[in-house]
Amino acid sequence: MAKVIDGKAIAAQLREEIKQQTEQLKQQGVTPGLAVVLVGEDPASRVYVSMKEKACEAAGIFSDEHKLPAETTEAQLLALIDELNNDKRIDGILVQLPLPDHIDESKVLEAISPKKDVDGFHPYNVGRLVTGNPLFQPCTPYGVMKMLEAIDCDLTGKEVVVVGRSNIVGKPVALMCLAKHATVTVCHSRTKDLAEVVRKADVVIAAVGRPEMVKGDWLKPGAVVIDVGVNRVGEKKLVGDVDYEGACEVASAITPVPGGVGPMTITMLLYNTLESAKRRV
Ligand code: NDP
Repeated sequence: MAKVIDGKAIAAQLREEIKQQTEQLKQQGVTPGLAVVLVGEDPASRVYVSMKEKACEAAGIFSDEHKLPAETTEAQLLALIDELNNDKRIDGILVQLPLPDHIDESKVLEAISPKKDVDGFHPYNVGRLVTGNPLFQPCTPYGVMKMLEAIDCDLTGKEVVVVGRSNIVGKPVALMCLAKHATVTVCHSRTKDLAEVVRKADVVIAAVGRPEMVKGDWLKPGAVVIDVGVNRVGEKKLVGDVDYEGACEVASAITPVPGGVGPMTITMLLYNTLESAKRRV
């Protein structure tokens, strides 16, 4: 049976370290600050924003929330970002996605100062990740890397198969694994014989958004499985992109859903904000 990689415990430990380091920074007169901008009333986004606010509070990080109405214009949003870019109390700026249709998402993300881009989505930070000299790394894939580190999974020379090529998970996590000297294959909806490709992996990272798509018999015995997927099935149940029961029979270690990658994402947001504040000292 696979060892369960306990994302909640790893995240809790990291949050404790973040809290302690935040306290030390405060003693040097610097309080890390995160600005979170929400436009509109999307219920899921509201939940995420309030979770981020609570996490900041628990870590001692100053949280500056901006809840704007859905009819906010692009110009108004850009003006707020400009203000936050110049606000000395703010080390990180996060614009909650998705934005309403009348606002150009990439224009907004590119307006955030790369030095405060704690989500790591600005092309400058993407470029730094590609060239192997990262400044801010996107939170979910960064969380995946911290989990692999926490279980002492050395990627050097390993075969990593990433299923999914999104800009927020698949592509950045592939680059991060490459930086750790893995041999990386990135799969997507047009990949031929996906099961066969996954079968050669020492480490599988699934970020697809399809409930339980990766089956246990796709895995090489002893593989490490990181399941980024969060899929709602029925009223309440959440499942990942991996068939957990089946995979547990074959894998050496696996992240559960929920309680795996999920808790790491906000943790890495706090981590990036703290790192940004340290650069201010
Ligand atoms: P996207 O929808 O942006 O990307 C999904 C990727 O999966 C695409 O590259 C797509 O291929 C690929 N794909 C879709 N169907 C198949 C298939 N049948 N076979 C192979 N590849 C396929 O999703 P995200 O990357 O944003 O998210 C992925 C999952 O991770 C979701 O469940 C999401 O909820 C979850 N997530 C969890 C987070 C967390 O904090 N735990 C944070 C972010 C995401 P193509 O490019 O060809 O279309």
